[in-house]
Amino acid sequence: MKPTAIADIDADAMLDQVRSWCSINTGTANLEGLARQLDVLEKAFSVLPCKIERVDPAPVTAVDADGCEVEKLHGQHFVLRVRPTANRRILLTGHMDTVFPKDHSFQELTWLEDGVLGGPGVADMKGGIAVMLHALMAFEASAGAGSLGYDVLLNSDEETGSLSSNGLIAEMARGKLAALTYEPAALPDGTLAHARGGSGNYSVIITGKSAHAGRNPDDGRNAIVAAADLAVRLKALHCPDISVNPAKIEGGSANNVVPDHAVLRFNIRPQSTEAAQAFERNLKTLLTSLESQHEVSAHTHGGVTRPPKPVDEKAQMLFDLVRECGAQLGQDIKWKSTGGVCDGNNIAAQGIPVVDTMGVRGGSIHSADEFLITESLAERAALSARVIQRLDEGAMS
Ligand SMILES: [Zn+2]
Repeated sequence: MKPTAIADIDADAMLDQVRSWCSINTGTANLEGLARQLDVLEKAFSVLPCKIERVDPAPVTAVDADGCEVEKLHGQHFVLRVRPTANRRILLTGHMDTVFPKDHSFQELTWLEDGVLGGPGVADMKGGIAVMLHALMAFEASAGAGSLGYDVLLNSDEETGSLSSNGLIAEMARGKLAALTYEPAALPDGTLAHARGGSGNYSVIITGKSAHAGRNPDDGRNAIVAAADLAVRLKALHCPDISVNPAKIEGGSANNVVPDHAVLRFNIRPQSTEAAQAFERNLKTLLTSLESQHEVSAHTHGGVTRPPKPVDEKAQMLFDLVRECGAQLGQDIKWKSTGGVCDGNNIAAQGIPVVDTMGVRGGSIHSADEFLITESLAERAALSARVIQRLDEGAMS
């Protein structure tokens, strides 16, 4: 890479972009804010020699407190392609949405101290989107750019599990040499997230039979009691291979009515694909026995949407490449495994090597203390530019 290409990364322009992008609220449910963010990002990314399209979200349903399946609306996703016919292509992904809804109190940007900016999405991950963009700009300005092609995906629903974009992620990952995702570093010192467990969210809708609590209680089939029993039995499946968290029971009505409906919601965190599959089998058996013992019916909605992400040999090669590029830039890159999940899980599930914490250094994400260490913007853009350059030169093949 021409040394000037990395030296020319414009830290001030990056910070300006992050500040303007973070001034738009993009809570996952704020479709109007997400549409505005899309407009702004389209303009910013159009400096690349690319074709940009907006992809409609796939339909998604959720279960409401009454146990009814309702449609959940999502924003459009941003897709950009450069040199789509190139033999060697990579995928870069990020997300536009944040965990802060329109009516959340955390909306403003504040300087917490010199070089540390607080604000919604500064680290997770509007700062990361700036890192991606400026790395690609530096790459395009470098002498060798031309043979490597790439796709960029910025989805609108990562923070709620990418339910309307996971098909798109899988489709865009296929056939790629490698993928880079711009979640913030796992630690403020720049440490990358290595292996990740998976995650699944379930709602079990339990239907019993209502009856008068005084006159004929024995004619009733109590859905709340069945849900409570299920919660206890699910918790018993919790072990080092999988964490199971019964999170919420909804349902019932007046005190004098045997409740005929309940919804139990829970989350699982399997450490491996085998653990996830074993859980599915156990859940089936459990529900069959619950149905017969309580004489209720149980209907399951949801499942594992973030498959576990082990680091295989190919993925390790990509980690090694990132560390090597960091060393050339005077950055000491380390990594550690984490319990968190992100789109990197879904990319890895396609067998594509991915490093999913190429974004900024910062921290306290998903809280009103979220911060960005601003010097990391140019630093991480340089790191990514170098990695992309090496992939262009034939690394990973
Ligand atoms: Zn994120």
